[in-house]
Amino acid sequence: MEMIRAEKINKSFGKLKVLNDVSFEVQQGEVISVIGPSGSGKSTLLRCLIGLEEINGGEIFVEGISTEKEGKKAFRKMGMVFQGFNLFPHKTVLENLTEAPLIVKKEDRKTAVQKARTLLKKVGLGDKEDSYPSQLSGGQKQRVAIARAMSMEPDIMLFDEPTSSLDPELVGEVLSVIRDLAEDKITMMVVTHEMGFARDVSDRVFFMDHGKIISDTVPEKIFVNPESERIQAFLTKILNENRGSHQ
Ligand code: ADP
Ligand code: MG
Repeated sequence: MEMIRAEKINKSFGKLKVLNDVSFEVQQGEVISVIGPSGSGKSTLLRCLIGLEEINGGEIFVEGISTEKEGKKAFRKMGMVFQGFNLFPHKTVLENLTEAPLIVKKEDRKTAVQKARTLLKKVGLGDKEDSYPSQLSGGQKQRVAIARAMSMEPDIMLFDEPTSSLDPELVGEVLSVIRDLAEDKITMMVVTHEMGFARDVSDRVFFMDHGKIISDTVPEKIFVNPESERIQAFLTKILNENRGSHQ
């Protein structure tokens, strides 16, 4: 089943063209890593998919539903996790997870709490439900953010550099939660600089450059035998940077 179809989507900020006729599709259960240089439009792509930015042209379909015609319905099929966690600071971990199900989905409290507890266990934070975000490490906060997005039971999860603001020793615990979701066959698009993750977990890798997906291929191909010098140069640079930061 086709979960996302983007047809020639365009996005500009003023005169700056950030997405330039971007087209792709994502099938159910696929994990897509989105890589590419800073400023190439990766965040904007995800933000357009979930309706945080309006596209200026083209069309997006989520499970066949046009975001232009039925935005609310289409956007609700997706959850998103950001680099900066974006948790509600004055709510406990449990309240962070139950807020949207109670208010948006109108779930009854007992069901919402039960589901939240199951999700917290899943991300290894069963003992943190009464903590506030400020009492958690970055890795724990991000795991709460993932559980919170999952609390709305999305079919598709979008991650925008979920580990970029974490200390290197905390990256693994977050990636491992994302890996678990991949094993559960949740459809995912993950913007990441973690090339090991991209290589091991993704079914396909999108390489973005100057507002275009210039490569959409299996990880074996892009990492072992990149088709352009541009991609090769980027990979070399990232691998060197990661080597530095993980020492
Ligand atoms: P990436 O995530 O690949 O680093 P972004 O999608 O964040 O790239 O940004 C792509 C380009 O769009 C950059 O030049 C960025 O400065 C610009 N941009 C992103 N968001 C906005 C905005 N809200 N207003 C103006 N320019 C923006
Ligand atoms: Mg970005």
